[in-house]
Parts: sequence; C-alpha cells; structure tokens
Amino acid sequence: MIFSKYNITSGIRDSENYFIVNLLSGNADILTPEDAEKIRAAREGKDIIDNEFKNDLIDKGYLINQAEESKEYRRKYLDFLDSRDKDEIQIFFVTNYSCNFACHYCYQDQYDHPSNKLSREVVDAFFDYVNKEFAARKKYITIFGGEPLLNTPVQKDIIGYIIQKSNEAGLSLCFVTNGYFLEEYIPLLKKGDIREIQVTLDGTESVHNNRRFLKGGGGTFEKIVKGIDKSLEKGININLRMVVDKKNIDNLADLSRLAMEKGWTASPLFKTQLGRNYELHHCQSSPDKLFDRISLYEKIYEMIKIHPHILDFHKPAYSVSKYLEENGELPGPLFDSCPACKTEWAFDYTGNIYSCTATVGKTDESLGTFYPSVTRKEEIIDNWESRDVTSIAECRDCSVQLACGGGCGSVAKNRTGNICSPDCRPVKELMELGFSQYFRSI
Ligand code: SF4
Ligand code: SF4
Repeated sequence: MIFSKYNITSGIRDSENYFIVNLLSGNADILTPEDAEKIRAAREGKDIIDNEFKNDLIDKGYLINQAEESKEYRRKYLDFLDSRDKDEIQIFFVTNYSCNFACHYCYQDQYDHPSNKLSREVVDAFFDYVNKEFAARKKYITIFGGEPLLNTPVQKDIIGYIIQKSNEAGLSLCFVTNGYFLEEYIPLLKKGDIREIQVTLDGTESVHNNRRFLKGGGGTFEKIVKGIDKSLEKGININLRMVVDKKNIDNLADLSRLAMEKGWTASPLFKTQLGRNYELHHCQSSPDKLFDRISLYEKIYEMIKIHPHILDFHKPAYSVSKYLEENGELPGPLFDSCPACKTEWAFDYTGNIYSCTATVGKTDESLGTFYPSVTRKEEIIDNWESRDVTSIAECRDCSVQLACGGGCGSVAKNRTGNICSPDCRPVKELMELGFSQYFRSI
C-alpha cells in the first residue's frame, strides 16, 4: 500500500488542525496534529504502527494499491467524459461589440470590429448552425456584448427577433448586460424563456460610478439598481456580478449590506458572483491594483472575519470547500475545468465561431464561420476539445489535478502559446482558507 498521489493535505488556516482530501476516492477528513503527523510519515513511505488508523486510511483510499488506483482513475475518467457529453452546452452569441459604457478596465476596447449591424439573416444562420450542429445536445443561449441591451429601436427589434427564434427552437436565454437599460427591456424579455440576467455592479454608488460610467461621463448606479429591483419584481432571475480589484474590494461589505437592505439576498431569484479583474488580453494601466487568485481569496477571507454578513451576499467557493459544506460530500473528480469547445462555444454577429467568451472577438482565434458559409478549423477545434488533465503533460503527476482541472485554456495559451498547457490554480491554499471558513466549528 502506498500514499495516493491524489491526496491533498495541508494545515487549516487559523487552526492547529489539518485536512486531507482525495477527489478520486471521494473522501475528506479533518486531522488532529497527531493524525497529521502519522499521515506525514505515510507520505514519506514509513509504515503506520496504529493498525486501526491505517485501515481507515485504506478504506478511504488515502493508502492505495497503485494498480487498483490506476484502474479507478481510468474508470472515473470515462464516467467524466460520458457525463460531460450529456451536459448542457452554453452557447454565447455576441450581438455587437459596441457599448454605451466606458469602464476603465474593459478589455474589448482594443478590438477592431466591423461596424456592420447584426441582420436577421445572420441570426437565422446562427440558429440554423446551432440547431444542426448541437441537435442532440441540451443547450441554452447567452446573449453577450459589448452591451446587447442598447436602447435603440434597431437593437430592440433584433433582440426581439432573437427571443422569437429562441422560442421557436425551444431554447432558454441568458443575457449578460451592464444593466443600464434593463428596465426598458423587461416587457420584451418577458416574451422569452429567460433563465437569468447577469448584471454588473462594482460597489455602492460612488465606488461603482467611479469605475463604470457612461461614454462621455455620467453615473450608472441608480438606473442599474432600479433595473435589478424591477426585474426581481417581475420574476426574472438576477445574477449580480461584482468585478473586483484592489481599488474596490473594500467596498464588498457595503455592497453586501445594500443588497441585504434592498431585500435582494432574501430573494430566491437573486445570486451573486465575484469576477476577478485580471489581465486576460492586454496590460491594464495599473496592474499593481489587480489581485492574483490567492491574494483575492485571502483578502475576502480576512474581510469575512470582520464583516461576516458578506457570506449572506456571497459565499466563496475556496476550491471544493463550499461544495463540501453545502452538500456533505465532495464533487466528482474534475478532469477538466475549461469548458471551451466542449460545453461552451461563442459566436458573433460577424459570422465567426470561437471557443468561449475569453477568445470571442479575437479574429486570429476564430475557429471558423457560420455565416456567410460554414467553415471549421478542425485541427484547432480538436486541440481545444482534447484539453484536460490527461492531455496536459504538467498536470499528469500533479497531486491537485482532480480539484484544479488544468485551469483556463485561454490564459494558458496567452502565457505559453499552447492550448494544452497548464493554468495552475492554488488549490491547496484555497482549501486551507475554505476548511477554516466552513468547517471551523468541527
Ligand atoms: S478558455 Fe478560459 S474562459 Fe474560455 S472556457 Fe476555458 S476556462 Fe473558460
Ligand atoms: S494546471 Fe497546474 S495545478 Fe492545475 S492540475 Fe495542471 S499542473 Fe496541477
């Protein structure tokens, strides 16, 4: 029996205890310092004298027979591929790259785009492609920009047409919007099967207005908040996204309070996400204001100690920790965390096909066209489709691979030039925080 290479162990933050997690066997335990010492010995290949403890480690798959574990890995990998084939596909459609906002961190400002408008002919070609290419798959469409909900008659007409086509195809819709004209769009949105609207609010009034203002100037907070209120009132799901960096993170506690006072957090229609402002496509003017993944979660962890009500607004995942607390069991092994070209695709009004929202609009990353004719760069698509922890050399021997899943293919490609390269996640460090946050009382 040897120590499983998929064991993840470390100390729990602000505690004398430790944790051990094994996503292949599906077990997790909190360890006393004494038990952690025995585990350390086992990892170094030393025999464990305490037989009861040793048998427990064997039962839970922390100590394994290597050949048996390899078989189990292959079995679970095939299960993973199987279940992913049955997963729903999220299909993004960019109606335009133009926007009425001039957010200072917007990455789309560097893209050059043809100024032609989205026509009904292109919408028809998009639905023809989707209905044919993904005929056997469950799917839904997310409308994306730029800003898709612009308040012009032409834009309202084309959004109305997309809603009509989605209804005909029996597909539900999500919208990603800055929320400025949300209220004006509600009557139209109510005609479709709307799954959720993602709206960005970067803080309370002055903080938000300092970051997300109209082109030409002007605050946007008040109108967005009104749109959220009205949407919830009309039964539309809202996914509130706060894009954070070092300039606005301290406002998280106040924004959480505001969401509670407005009654949003008590609504079953309301959920939140924190988006990390990061250098995906080009250098930010002040990169020192950006968090890396772990420093962001360290900061949030410390803030929650002082302002525990933040947890009513947003519960950080800290890798698998939140899932474990909410479900009483671990998620299945994550052989792949990048959905691009597997359960996510992106299309835009110019007729191009992309892997996902991280590449959409970068014409050199186009994977083909759906309009005016259908073309596909099969070799690059194969490359995206094959990306997982079994095809990335660096991931194969990594102990956290089944929690990390290899990270984001686009970030990896930007860094190394190769889609099948790693984008490492600080899994162990996140779990150190997560076990402390969610299991401190155990
Ligand atoms: S490339 Fe990155 S952004 Fe795109 S689907 Fe993969 S993980 Fe998501
Ligand atoms: S991307 Fe890095 S951390 Fe993630 S599985 Fe691969 S090697 Fe491990």
